Amino acid sequence: MNNFINSWLRPDIQAINAYHVPASDGMIKLDAMESPFPLPDELIGQYLAYLADSELNRYPNPSAIELQKTLRKLMDIPDDLGVLLGNGSDELIQLLALACDTNDTILSVEPSFVMYGMIAKFTRLNYQGVDLNDDFEIDLNVMLRSIETHQPKLIFIAYPNNPTGNTFDRTVIEKIITSTQALVVLDEAYYAYANDSFLDDIKKYPNLVLLRTVSKIGFAGLRLGLLIGAQDTVAQLDKLRLPYNINTLTQVSANFLLREKDEINKNAQIILSERTQLSATLSAINVLKVYPSQANFILFKAPNANELFKVLKQKGVLIKNLSSAPKLTDCLRVTVGSGEQNQQFINIVEAFYG
Ligand SMILES: *Cc1c(COP(=O)(O)O)cnc(C)c1O
Repeated sequence: MNNFINSWLRPDIQAINAYHVPASDGMIKLDAMESPFPLPDELIGQYLAYLADSELNRYPNPSAIELQKTLRKLMDIPDDLGVLLGNGSDELIQLLALACDTNDTILSVEPSFVMYGMIAKFTRLNYQGVDLNDDFEIDLNVMLRSIETHQPKLIFIAYPNNPTGNTFDRTVIEKIITSTQALVVLDEAYYAYANDSFLDDIKKYPNLVLLRTVSKIGFAGLRLGLLIGAQDTVAQLDKLRLPYNINTLTQVSANFLLREKDEINKNAQIILSERTQLSATLSAINVLKVYPSQANFILFKAPNANELFKVLKQKGVLIKNLSSAPKLTDCLRVTVGSGEQNQQFINIVEAFYG
């Protein structure tokens, strides 16, 4: 039978491999940089009462005004910067791509977050990946040459980078920002676990915006991300946002949950100390190469990585297998979980190489 969708759909979309999310029911989930901390028991009653007040027969507040204020407080965003909310920061990456013109180019480093390249494909933009060096650092000369050659409209740099976990040299990033006409998007999804941020630099550089998300600080289920930039930049980009993109349940939940700034910061501190410990324990296994991390995950190179990944999975621990990705031969990425989860992971890895 003639397959309708194959004759109907753009061939380049047919050729895309769908973003794959593996089954994880009942597993210790250390594959997606989620937080291990659930809502504290003593907040559940209050939270439900707060939710019950929301009017689900009405459209949400169109610009989620209250939530903007909550996020500004949580992340110390100055009043004279603009904030644009997205249904996850993924939606904001897509919105930025929609702002581009036919034949424009999106440039990023590689390896990095795969959505930059995928969204360039969805929106029929050109995509240019610039290889990081063997230590996953940006080679400034290579980068500047690529910018010169390809004249990108958008440059995405994850800071810290996913999946490598490192931040880049601040002066290198500054040189990139000042040497291009592109809008430079620093994706600070992991800001809570990093030593540095460009939040205070937005006023200095008109072509700089930041992306952040609450996904990696405990609230992946809310689907809430934000773009922070100059007010006039945000006002223009806001035209591309679909009306009511942040649903009522997300607005209400986030308003309640994100006020717990102390709790959120305390949890981030726990993850940081768990990261230090996990990194040290992995490094003590001689055959592993453990990369430094400024995020809530650790990348490591492991002999026989595919087999280790399989054994972990059989024993109920799901991590991310990157071993067949370009420049990541034998690399695995583990999210920093609770102390107990990390210990279970470590036990299996130690037994595997023991
Ligand atoms: C996880 C991640 C995101 C996605 O964030 P959402 O807000 O959950 O869509 C964006 N950028 C990077 C670099 C990430 O690692």
